[in-house]
Amino acid sequence: MAEECTHNCSSCGADCPSRNKESMIEKPNAESKIRRVIGVVSGKGGVGKSIVTSMLSVLMRRKGYRVGIMDADITGPSIPKAFGLAPGVESTETALLPKTTASGIDVMSLNLLVEDPESPVIWRGPVIAGTVKQFWTDVIWKDIDYMFVDCPPGTGDVPLTVFQSLPLDGIIIVTSPQELVSMIVAKAFKMAEMMNVPVLGLVENMSYVKCPDCGKELYVFGESRIEETAKAHGTEVLGRLPIDPMLAGLVDNGMIEGMEVDYLDAAADRIAERLA
Ligand code: ADP
Repeated sequence: MAEECTHNCSSCGADCPSRNKESMIEKPNAESKIRRVIGVVSGKGGVGKSIVTSMLSVLMRRKGYRVGIMDADITGPSIPKAFGLAPGVESTETALLPKTTASGIDVMSLNLLVEDPESPVIWRGPVIAGTVKQFWTDVIWKDIDYMFVDCPPGTGDVPLTVFQSLPLDGIIIVTSPQELVSMIVAKAFKMAEMMNVPVLGLVENMSYVKCPDCGKELYVFGESRIEETAKAHGTEVLGRLPIDPMLAGLVDNGMIEGMEVDYLDAAADRIAERLA
């Protein structure tokens, strides 16, 4: 809490993390229609936030929902690659239009707006946060049932601003067994609690490896503790994803929409049920 906080957000200008949520939320573009907004977060980069975002989006689309993905991981945008989308978007006089994937998912990402998706984005926090806000205010998201936001990793300044500026209906926390799961999950929970956003549940990525010969699940990082972590925080495990080289191949080749595995199918059903 800022030192000058008066505990009355309507009259006080202090920038506390606990600041009245409504006051910071940006209005979407006047032509947008978005029913539900779901943030996908993780304690650090490389945990599989983007692959989980992509897989859940594909599954929700297959179930007949209109799906959008806002790639808010500005310094590590990986959604266009997973869907095989090349840079370049269309625009109106005042707004940008998302790019639509083969199966009809609408995507906006910085990698669609730059000439060379491989050059690094060396921007400071406020510029990054401003870009995410523009993805909300200056993009026409027509008729979206479920918008997944691939959030910047961590619990620092940038993810916090994303939390504050978007009307998230819930978040999904992606973890992996090598992380100090309980501590990272605790931090993500704290942030969600401060922002008044419900946690829909946890997804454990790289949970196990399936033996190609006998089908046995091998816990290379030790037995999973995700169930007890979820229980300790009063939430649920939405799904567990094995390390699957086939998935990595699909992402590398921009073919995630062709996936044939159903690891997260129950998770997608549960999300639709929770946020009907
Ligand atoms: P994050 O968004 O958290 O930074 P990504 O989803 O981009 O992480 O994943 C990092 C890399 O690991 C990607 O190349 C992705 O394809 C690969 N990867 C993630 N999860 C799996 C998995 N379960 N099996 C195989 N490869 C994976």
